[in-house]
Amino acid sequence: MNTISLGLPLFSAVAATFIVLLVGDFASTFFYHVPQHVWGKLHLRTHHDRRRSYWDHAVLSKDPQVLLDGFLGAVPYIVVAILCARLSVAGAALGLILGQLHVWWRHTTELGWRTPAWGVRLARAFQIVLPEDHDGHHRNPEIEFGDIFRFYDAPARATIAFFRNLDPKRRTAALRRMAAARRRAAAASMAMKRRTVVKQTS
Ligand SMILES: [Zn+2]
Ligand SMILES: [Zn+2]
Repeated sequence: MNTISLGLPLFSAVAATFIVLLVGDFASTFFYHVPQHVWGKLHLRTHHDRRRSYWDHAVLSKDPQVLLDGFLGAVPYIVVAILCARLSVAGAALGLILGQLHVWWRHTTELGWRTPAWGVRLARAFQIVLPEDHDGHHRNPEIEFGDIFRFYDAPARATIAFFRNLDPKRRTAALRRMAAARRRAAAASMAMKRRTVVKQTS
């Protein structure tokens, strides 16, 4: 295998690590996670299964469906790492290791993890997904996309909305869901107003 040198070996290694995480997250988000949320079932059935602890399914589970979802999400990172091995084998391997450590870390909210204030500031500066952010994706599958980097969230949501709009059936279903949510919100605010009126007149 011929290697591409970027001068210092350390520089090549750092570049390979960074590319595996950055491009791997991009590819995994847009070629696996987003399509699963638009057309798929496997990811919604496993990663977003509310009956299961997500520490269990992300880390402990041996359920073949759960493992398959995890593996398919990891394939893009592995492909990028293989391509980056020409830059630096050690750097590419470190990228995969850091990616795996982030998988474990981002599922620790349930175990009681709370990021300290300085950690939140640091993560926001580098746009790193915190366990608290990923917890948001488990609670509401329509938000907080991007495994490692938060800047993939907005384009991921836009891509999902775009593809749902192309399909009249999905679009009608989404509009119906939105209308129902609006009706619920309106009913809740009416009930609130009625309570206030009753209080004022009594
Ligand atoms: Zn998760
Ligand atoms: Zn998801």
